[in-house]
Amino acid sequence: MGVQKSVKKGKKPHINKKTSKKYTKYKIEGDKVTRERNCPRCGPGIFLMNSQGRKYCGKCHYSEFEGKAPETEEVKAFEEEKKDNV
Ligand SMILES: [Zn+2]
Repeated sequence: MGVQKSVKKGKKPHINKKTSKKYTKYKIEGDKVTRERNCPRCGPGIFLMNSQGRKYCGKCHYSEFEGKAPETEEVKAFEEEKKDNV
């Protein structure tokens, strides 16, 4: 008599996937449905991730920058200082 091995066979334990939070991008105001910004490349249905004045599409990696850009102002000031020195 051989030694019986306990090998697992058949069904894997089912693991639930995380629910899509896409419904959070839709809001209903009265009779109208308002949506958040969708991706200009992927079209409606694909929304842009929002973080720190930056928007990003997880599907096509499209990114968009928003708001003030203080870096450009600093560059301008730096260039003006250069002019004064010359
Ligand atoms: Zn996209």
